[in-house]
Amino acid sequence: MNFFDRLKNGLGTLFGVLVDTKAQVISGIKRAYDAYRSRGGPTGAEAGDEIMRKKERLRAVNDEIIHLRNKYMSNRGPSDRDRKRWNDLRVEREQLLSELNQGKEVRAAEKIIKTEDVIDKVEIDLETTHFLQGNAFDILGKQCHVCGRTMKLQWERRLSVVKPKDFYWGCTGWYVQQGDLRACTYSEKLQRNDYGLMTDTTAPEFSVTAEEFGIILTDKGTEKIIYTRLNDLKSDLSSGHRGVELVTCPVHGENMVLRQKQNPTGLLDTYFLACPHWKPNNTGCSFMEKLKSGPQLSALLKSETGRGVL
Ligand SMILES: [Zn+2]
Ligand SMILES: [Zn+2]
Repeated sequence: MNFFDRLKNGLGTLFGVLVDTKAQVISGIKRAYDAYRSRGGPTGAEAGDEIMRKKERLRAVNDEIIHLRNKYMSNRGPSDRDRKRWNDLRVEREQLLSELNQGKEVRAAEKIIKTEDVIDKVEIDLETTHFLQGNAFDILGKQCHVCGRTMKLQWERRLSVVKPKDFYWGCTGWYVQQGDLRACTYSEKLQRNDYGLMTDTTAPEFSVTAEEFGIILTDKGTEKIIYTRLNDLKSDLSSGHRGVELVTCPVHGENMVLRQKQNPTGLLDTYFLACPHWKPNNTGCSFMEKLKSGPQLSALLKSETGRGVL
């Protein structure tokens, strides 16, 4: 799956590159990309079209799975025919998810190659934790040793100041409820090499330290602008019946929906991304991304609208 052999995300950031030079990493990506292309793998606009088609099919598959499950819940049990159909759909969904991940890998590689000149290496320390937070979306290529699901870069979201040691990898099986249990609770600490990123450092957010960025966000004027921009994005997305491109649900593969909490305590408690199959009171898909830090809000705005918060 991780055929470019590096952890990366849709923003074109590479992870786990503390010990390598930029030249080594980029030339490795280019080699893998060229090899993929010479095998006839779709790239560019063709890859984009294929992703769109597959996402469309995935939505239909998810809807049918949910329809069958609802039917089964209200009846005594599924018929043999429904059971077989359900199994076939699950297999198809797995296949689509894996093909979509491959498509994301290709797009990420293209972004990295295109932005090669502005990519720089960043070592994560107390002053640069905002680089990790702002890049913790949909990281490709990190799989759980226990169950094979995707792992997600996590930290304790209640902390207002995050230190490098507060980050960890958590299996996305944690969001899959099986009865009273979670499908997988595996987590692991970051390794030393995980504290090295290669990313576009030209965004103004990254010209300040994590602490300075936090202070900027407490400015009332800035806060107001961010609210306005997020609300604009939210209504744009909902009038187009779209989710965000930046994050997909690891279970359903669909774009996440930008939502707003009912009684928030402030800007960093207001927004979250939820799976389109999310429902209140844990009755739907529970995968969500709490947007509890400035770097996350900024990365989301940048990726969806072309401009961050500063
Ligand atoms: Zn797992
Ligand atoms: Zn979901």
